[in-house]
Amino acid sequence: MPGDAPELPAKDLRTLIPEYAGLARETTLLNPEPGDPGVRESSLGGKLLWPADEPWPYCAQEDHWTFGSDPSNRTEIVPGAVPMVPILQLFARDVPGLEFPEGKDLLQLVWCALMHEQDPRLLVMPQLYWRNEAEIVAGGLLSEIPEVSEGEYDEDNVPEPSTLSPTTAEDYPRWLDLPKDMWETWEPRLRLPAGHSVWPPDSNLIGTKVGGWPAWTQPADWPDCESGHRMEHLLTITGDIQLGDCGGVYFFQCRRCPGQPWDWRFDCH
Ligand SMILES: [Zn+2]
Ligand SMILES: [Zn+2]
Repeated sequence: MPGDAPELPAKDLRTLIPEYAGLARETTLLNPEPGDPGVRESSLGGKLLWPADEPWPYCAQEDHWTFGSDPSNRTEIVPGAVPMVPILQLFARDVPGLEFPEGKDLLQLVWCALMHEQDPRLLVMPQLYWRNEAEIVAGGLLSEIPEVSEGEYDEDNVPEPSTLSPTTAEDYPRWLDLPKDMWETWEPRLRLPAGHSVWPPDSNLIGTKVGGWPAWTQPADWPDCESGHRMEHLLTITGDIQLGDCGGVYFFQCRRCPGQPWDWRFDCH
């Protein structure tokens, strides 16, 4: 065909820039599949192994809201406290690459399934828990876990109950997350031949995953802990739920500070 641009060699960043390959980190892709996960299984959106002596968490943000059933009524304020919904439960045996705090072997995550103000970071209000499975089982499980009722959640924010089939893979940073100090030396090697407008693909893995690199859809926004340490990526939840127009929810932690403080980020298109 006339005007055909010469074929761009099928290269990704790893072959174009050897230093990029050096940024590889192991990630565990969780590969959720809709199903009926049990309370003793790792799951996305499944029932959580919850200790009997701990009340179920509620979100009491004053003005959380839902889009409501009537599309013309865009914001229906939901008054009062609303139960959080189960998001993720990971047992150490299923995710060997995840380093648990001493004595802990279960990670649980819940959030409020309503909308919160307009700041995208406040879209969900997550809570993260490190626990010990044997202690919970010995102490008994909470028998009445409240369910959110219709009108108390935005269905985009609630994952379908899914079993997990974790697999490990090498993960790389997104374009938006490339180290700035390397950029000056990288950029000349990335210049596109005339007639090409497609940048070589990065090798970031998009999906709900533990470890590796965040699958940002917006410029990277790594949090620091209160002592000023750059936090590490703990896990990303994306793709498997709608989250409105948003890309994902990213969790981070500082392993250098006592109690392993954590934080989270949220990005929207
Ligand atoms: Zn809320
Ligand atoms: Zn710290």
